[in-house]
Amino acid sequence: LPTSPEALLKYCRDNKIDYVDVRFTDILGMMHHVTMHIDAMDVDAFTDGIGFDGSSIRGWKAINESDMLAKLDPTSAYVDPFFEHKTLAVIADIYEPARAKGEVPKTYSRDPRQILRRAVEHMKSTGLTDTCYMGPEAEFFVFSDVRYDQEMNQGFYFIDAVDAQWRMGAEESPNLGFKMRKKEGYFPLPPNDQFQDLRAEMTEMLNKMGIPPERHHHEVSAAGQAEINFKLDESLKQADKVQLFKYVVKNVARKNGYSATFMPKPLFGDNGSGMHTHISLWKDGRNLFAGDWYAGLSEMAKYFIGGILHHGPALLAFTNPTTNSFKRLVPGYEAPVSLVYSARNRSASIRIPVAVHGEKARRIEFRTPDPAANPYMAFAAMILAGLDGIQNKIDPGAPADFNLYEATEEQKKKIRSVPANLTKVLDALEQDNAWLKVGGVFDDDFIENYISYKRAEVENIVNMRPHPYEFVLYYDC
Ligand code: GLU
Ligand code: MG
Ligand code: MG
Repeated sequence: LPTSPEALLKYCRDNKIDYVDVRFTDILGMMHHVTMHIDAMDVDAFTDGIGFDGSSIRGWKAINESDMLAKLDPTSAYVDPFFEHKTLAVIADIYEPARAKGEVPKTYSRDPRQILRRAVEHMKSTGLTDTCYMGPEAEFFVFSDVRYDQEMNQGFYFIDAVDAQWRMGAEESPNLGFKMRKKEGYFPLPPNDQFQDLRAEMTEMLNKMGIPPERHHHEVSAAGQAEINFKLDESLKQADKVQLFKYVVKNVARKNGYSATFMPKPLFGDNGSGMHTHISLWKDGRNLFAGDWYAGLSEMAKYFIGGILHHGPALLAFTNPTTNSFKRLVPGYEAPVSLVYSARNRSASIRIPVAVHGEKARRIEFRTPDPAANPYMAFAAMILAGLDGIQNKIDPGAPADFNLYEATEEQKKKIRSVPANLTKVLDALEQDNAWLKVGGVFDDDFIENYISYKRAEVENIVNMRPHPYEFVLYYDC
């Protein structure tokens, strides 16, 4: 697609595209949209922005100051494959309108995409590196449906897509004898794997939309868990792609009569969904993470790891932002439980992939993040934590090349665990946030608003609603 406003609008007219869908992401990672008719569009939408009401969007404006501007980014356009009426989707950056004559609209401090923009600008301004490549692996589950009673929290259940009627208690099972065993979904051939075609349909659509795929496979959970990997890209482009990826996955599932979820831990007793993120820093086309410190990595990579692990507890507020996130970070399900690094170990927060070829492929895999994260804020925070490590030479200590799930008491004393829950992570963010504010990337308003929004979530979930397991434990007390 063309990348200038004029050429994009001409493209719409030439191709009979009647609508331009303006999209942006809120702080919780959810995308929103408003649809403009092509006749009402001109280049002003790109230079001055389109006005909209920001007051009903969670975590954003109060009603008395609700007017906002969405400025379209012409380099982010794609043709929406799901809408019946031909529609061009364009991602927007959010601005505060001028309050007085002559004032210039200011970037909105709670717009996640501009937080990442600022993080990348700050990163470049240090002169250390010009590009941060990210390769996120957002796993997800495919269910037939999910039913819940929001208020009572009792009749909450997923309908397993693999075996829907069996879970519903019907007499005839559609399973026909091939069911994945729990934690063994990775990765027998069909008929055990029932989602080959669904994943392929998603992968093909992603490819057409500019997300070049690498592979797809069933993931470890037996209940229809999947992973689709795509090529690494520069962090801001990659965050846009994560949003598009989730949109495509959810809508292709929907079209096929399923429901896809990126919730980190939907099922007790089985693997959860991570968003492992592969990271490398580059300058002038050279990978700065390749070197001869440990496992083919450089000193710079060492200190980047130091920064991520040191700020880990606060960083998780953005990479693992839900109460549910911490139900994934427990021993036994391939999710990390310790703030350590290792070349061999999938139970460490940072793994260094060694089965890779050549300097270009040298990278770290940060395994803690999950796909509930807002990719813009999470990537921005990862970059800043790593940079802080490099600039302050934060030493990550020795690698933990042993199974952390089976660590001895002696070993355990030396390792830091990931925080146990969202409250601990928010406490850490309250104490440790100066590194997020360098270059004005995050500001106090954003951090305070975010913490109080997330604390209210905890209060609502943990302290106010009866939990289904409380019925198991206490109903007959
Ligand atoms: N699903 C696992 C997690 O929660 C990861 C499985 C894998 O190594 O890909 O992180
Ligand atoms: Mg995986
Ligand atoms: Mg991985």
